Amino acid sequence: MGNCAIVGINWGDEGKGRMVDLLTGQFDCVIRFQGGGNAGHTVINEYGKFALHLLPSGIFRKGVVNVLGNGVALDLENLWTEIETVRAQGIELTPDNLKISDRASLLLPWHRELDGLEEARLKDKKYGSTRQGIAPFYSDKYQKKTILAGELFYPEVLRAHALDLLEWKNLTLTGVYGAEPVRAEDLLNWLETWGEKLKPFICDTGRELRKAQKEGKRILFEAQLGALRDLDYGIVPYTTSSNTIAAFAPVGSGLPGVKVDEVIGIVKAYSTCVGEGPFVCEMFGDEAEQLRTAGSEYGAKTGRPRRVGPIDLVATRYGVETQGATALALTKLDVLSYMDRIPVCEHYTVNGQETDDFPFPALLAAARPVVRYVDGWKCDISGVRRWEDLPRAAQEYVEMIERSVGCRIAYVSVGPDRDACILR
Ligand code: GDP
Repeated sequence: MGNCAIVGINWGDEGKGRMVDLLTGQFDCVIRFQGGGNAGHTVINEYGKFALHLLPSGIFRKGVVNVLGNGVALDLENLWTEIETVRAQGIELTPDNLKISDRASLLLPWHRELDGLEEARLKDKKYGSTRQGIAPFYSDKYQKKTILAGELFYPEVLRAHALDLLEWKNLTLTGVYGAEPVRAEDLLNWLETWGEKLKPFICDTGRELRKAQKEGKRILFEAQLGALRDLDYGIVPYTTSSNTIAAFAPVGSGLPGVKVDEVIGIVKAYSTCVGEGPFVCEMFGDEAEQLRTAGSEYGAKTGRPRRVGPIDLVATRYGVETQGATALALTKLDVLSYMDRIPVCEHYTVNGQETDDFPFPALLAAARPVVRYVDGWKCDISGVRRWEDLPRAAQEYVEMIERSVGCRIAYVSVGPDRDACILR
């Protein structure tokens, strides 16, 4: 295996963290290349249970260098809290195994505030933001109105830059939203407090990665969320504000010229979606509640109950194509063990016409699922570690997905623990 990206095929929460944790043993560097602390990867291993938000999932492996690339939304305060939490659980984090790009932009306190103000203004038309400031942050980044992490090493430049931004940002806070202006003293104190703590981790990660590449080190790119949340290719506007697809990994990681050799797409054995927006295959009532409970489908960051549905082959095929997946990992197959018959969303109808193509965002509200049922296996498969030991009905379910979405399923996960995985 050369270098590899691990990405979500659906709406996020597919179990990427769990697969990265499993596979990091084969890699020397793990890089987060987009997004911020607005989602959560749950990882369960010999050290305990962790909810990671911004930290790469490679932090549990000795010798693995973890990098936060220039493409992430770097919230110093939340990252420090996360580092302290993980350290308190016995994980060593030092500038040797955690490196932050000096070209990552800082998510500032006003980004979180603006996120909340805008969602409140939208009222019932809200986008379902996690209110972590991600959309205002990326908007500002593209306006070149953010601070680079490396500026923390140049106090004079930083101070002047921060005060310029403050003057500009207060126009929006007070003039558009009628909120209180941010005080210069508070902003400078915030930068000083959190910047000093994180500075030891900030460096020219691009140079380190190019060196690692020359030395033949193996690199893993770790994405947050899934293809359907991609800013360009997802369910606009109910997407995140960054690119969640593997094609963005080189840009956001600090290795813009790298070719990604392998793309492992993570697909959940059924569908879940957090927050607002069209979710064509959504189930309701008791059927939904049973699946939500069986899969413990509550947000890792927000605790919000996730919307659930059967596997959506239309959306999954689109996700596989958008990600350019070369192999898939199917997670949470064990969760379906209670079902007599398993629902599968095979096609959509849009305005009465059947389609296998994922619709343009404006048509999604009119799309309806065409569901058929396949046989369940009705037994506990969480202890199975070999393909040949899976019940035939479970094998058929996996093979049916593989055929429908046109990509090999190389891993089948049957439990949250590191080793609860079948390698095909
Ligand atoms: P991520 O953001 O894509 O990493 O996904 P989340 O961490 O939000 O959600 C995955 C959840 O499912 C976590 O609680 C995992 O521990 C759990 N999980 C992952 N794979 C499996 C599996 O195969 N079976 C079961 N039962 N749980 C799993």
